[in-house]
Amino acid sequence: MNKEINKIPYKIYLEESEMPAQYYNVRADMKKKPAPLLNPATLQPMTQEELSAVFCEELVRQELDDTTAYFDIPQEIRDFYKMYRPSPLVRAYCLEEKLQTPAKIYYKFEGNNTSGSHKLNSAIAQAYYAKQQGLKGVTTETGAGQWGTALSMACAYLGLDCRVYMVKVSYEQKPFRREVMRTYGANVTPSPSMTTEVGKKILAEHPGTTGSLGCAISEAVEDATTHEGYRYVLGSVLNQVLLHQSVIGLETKTAMDKYGIKPDVIIGCAGGGSNLGGLISPFMGEKLRGEADYQFIAVEPASCPSLTRGKYAYDFCDTGMVCPLAKMYTLGSGFIPSANHAGGLRYHGMSSTLSELYDQGLMEARSVEQTEVFKAAEEFARIEGILPAPESSHAIKVAIDEALKCKETGEEKTILFGLTGTGYFDLKAYESFNNGTMTDYIPTDEDLQKGFDGIPQFPGNEI
Ligand SMILES: *Cc1c(COP(=O)(O)O)cnc(C)c1O
Repeated sequence: MNKEINKIPYKIYLEESEMPAQYYNVRADMKKKPAPLLNPATLQPMTQEELSAVFCEELVRQELDDTTAYFDIPQEIRDFYKMYRPSPLVRAYCLEEKLQTPAKIYYKFEGNNTSGSHKLNSAIAQAYYAKQQGLKGVTTETGAGQWGTALSMACAYLGLDCRVYMVKVSYEQKPFRREVMRTYGANVTPSPSMTTEVGKKILAEHPGTTGSLGCAISEAVEDATTHEGYRYVLGSVLNQVLLHQSVIGLETKTAMDKYGIKPDVIIGCAGGGSNLGGLISPFMGEKLRGEADYQFIAVEPASCPSLTRGKYAYDFCDTGMVCPLAKMYTLGSGFIPSANHAGGLRYHGMSSTLSELYDQGLMEARSVEQTEVFKAAEEFARIEGILPAPESSHAIKVAIDEALKCKETGEEKTILFGLTGTGYFDLKAYESFNNGTMTDYIPTDEDLQKGFDGIPQFPGNEI
């Protein structure tokens, strides 16, 4: 094994006292800010008051604040984090050895909690602010189920009611996640459902639809806004979620600084952009302030390529068009990606913060095909021991590609990637990979055009 192991441990853990006491808001350091959310009726920026009808007040404040760099993490949230954080930063010595690369590879592992992903970092924060506001409960959507699981854990801990609209195809195909949520006390409804007006409408227009995140969001929002004491919470995309996920990057930065490590390339998978946004935040802050330079790479599935093939425009965040308009790289709110196994990466849009950073050329994006991703997942599982989530494996794939490039050029780059979660609930996907029946579907330009046709047209929003 690599001789350096004596200098840098296999796993770098922080002390509890070194965990971040504040979240970092990367927007504060952006000269050109992400575009504001717009009211679809007036096309004016959404106000605190308007957003507070849907979201918790403190979360709206965080959402709208693009100048405050640091937000204190309340003690109760910090205490909850201590149950499963700090998360380890791992030096992938075994993978380096296997690849025979001069590159140094690190990954930040967020899968060490029952939800199996980084989503718990924001779930506990959002549930905490809902509780502070005296609410009875929260509603949400979940695709593959990771976010719903994380939120149900946080709600159980704080004694809040949790109502989850789960994309129907996942509800049927992933009964285990559904049961974890129910064990934590959540009420889980397959979406689209007949329990909301928007669900009925979607079912009338698309009978037999297996649902999408966009539909489930519409239903969850309707549920929250028509029930006293409830608000809607979202597991990705929004600025507030990136803010909470900054704990990933802040811990990573502290751990790396302790050992004098500076990453050259930082890689993460991108669904709505929360784990990647969180991982890169403090590093991007340095880049924005001109203190250091890094290469950032967002990795998305070729079947749902919002950054690499989408349009940068104002679009609806949901299928029912009940949410505010967000400016983002988007495939159109009507785009329903072909069935792929990275359920957490199937959203049609991308965080406005990441979209703006990408548009300014501060971050790159790549899209990768499913079978290549699973090859990387298998290689990683066999040599590093962890069974990665399909979503996380997108980052693994590009990290391996980068490490192999270093092998050719002889460069000793330091590569950091986010290992967002574990794949125990994704064994159907592994089964189809192992059986050789996994397919790669890449949407044609015509497929994408159908989605783009649904992007709202108004002056200044030409695509
Ligand atoms: C949800 C999820 C993602 C993608 O969501 P982001 O908001 O883009 O981070 C990635 N990995 C895992 C394991 C997930 O559960």
